[in-house]
Amino acid sequence: MGDKSYYCDYCCCFLKNDVNVRKTHNSGLVHNMAKLRYMRRFEDPRKVLEQEAIKEPCMRYLNGKYCKFDLMCKFTHFNEAQLEHLRKMVKRLEKAQTSKVIDKRKKHNKIILPWYKSGEKNNKIINHKRLPESLQPINFDRINDEFLKLEWG
Ligand SMILES: [Zn+2]
Ligand SMILES: [Zn+2]
Repeated sequence: MGDKSYYCDYCCCFLKNDVNVRKTHNSGLVHNMAKLRYMRRFEDPRKVLEQEAIKEPCMRYLNGKYCKFDLMCKFTHFNEAQLEHLRKMVKRLEKAQTSKVIDKRKKHNKIILPWYKSGEKNNKIINHKRLPESLQPINFDRINDEFLKLEWG
């Protein structure tokens, strides 16, 4: 049997590399708490906020007392400052995502807007102006430019 010890990433501790020791450790509360906490670091803050904001505060924990339920407690262990921090994180996330969406929309509109919005009014103007050139292939770029000038000066 190798004497090499087993390192638990969640608990940051060394264990005897023995199947039974590891089994006992992995089913232990300490290990599961550590694991939960570890996973939570990679969780979406929105999800965490959603879960924690609806809970009543855990009076025991927030008063500095030991709560054996830890992250599995049905009351929240987040104090106001921590919740506030979470909210800020969520806001920042949403802002970043919204601006991305707007960017996309802008690009999209730039391409489709002249055609999408070329209602009768604009078509008439374009057709009228283009009448003598009606046999020529339509120059899309020129129409776009003119349309943009017409709409926004
Ligand atoms: Zn562990
Ligand atoms: Zn609690």
